[in-house]
Amino acid sequence: MQRFENRIALITGAGSGIGRATAKRLAAEGARLMLVDRNEEGLQQTVEQLPAGTEVLQRALDVADEAAVEQCVADTITHFGRLDVLCNNAGIAGGDYSTAQDQSLETWQKIISVNLYGVMLFTKYASRQMEKQGQGAIVNTASVAGIRSGAGGNAYSASKAGVINFTMTSACDLGAHNIRVNAVCPGLIETGMTAPVFDYARANNKEAKLGARCELRRYGRPEEIAATIAFLASDDASYITGQALAVDGGNTAS
Ligand code: NAD
Repeated sequence: MQRFENRIALITGAGSGIGRATAKRLAAEGARLMLVDRNEEGLQQTVEQLPAGTEVLQRALDVADEAAVEQCVADTITHFGRLDVLCNNAGIAGGDYSTAQDQSLETWQKIISVNLYGVMLFTKYASRQMEKQGQGAIVNTASVAGIRSGAGGNAYSASKAGVINFTMTSACDLGAHNIRVNAVCPGLIETGMTAPVFDYARANNKEAKLGARCELRRYGRPEEIAATIAFLASDDASYITGQALAVDGGNTAS
């Protein structure tokens, strides 16, 4: 029996990186999927990489657009009849390294709206359906940047700290409905988001330095985050809720 047989999973940010790896992992374990991203081309590429026969819908939308989010959840339920797993994974770093003294409100609004409004909005609409079903699992992609300073800039770090707290708070709100809410906190992973960092390091012969940021002395792969998301979304984690699990090669241990 596959862990996600007869389960419907909605994954945001599924057009690239960790979201794509999560889509492939959950589909390989039997899930049927609603994939969401603002990048239509990326979504299509993900769909083409899924195991043959995967039942999948896709929606190009902005996760900070409440009407679009509500419609997307409604479409999922109309098509599949239920929603069991929500992976709130879409996010941006924005390449912003302003200090607390020169940060702009516009940058904060942009980063917070994607990283935090999106998580709140999908949780709001998906959890209403999960409550009707009497069960559900939500996994939010936060970051080590939400645990410690020094990664990704202050708007990004604050947004991810917000995701971690929203995870705990919504676990308390939704626990009585048998809906579990957890977060995964990746360390440095090679994806579209971090491509500029990797390109720069490779061009300057500094790739080894990227791995040196953690105890395992290597950066991570999207599949390693997807495996953790799959665990937290599955019944193997049936008594885990309100937790933020760092998957960072020991970055936050040091
Ligand atoms: P990525 O850029 O490869 O993928 C992110 C996806 O989210 C993209 O396909 C993008 O189009 C989509 N997206 C962005 N804004 C959106 C919006 N408003 N509406 C809909 N879709 C939107 O990056 P990734 O590394 O796979 O990022 C996935 C998550 O992991 C993010 O939340 C990110 O903050 C988090 N994360 C990444 C790392 C890392 O090192 N890559 C580390 C910690 C946390």
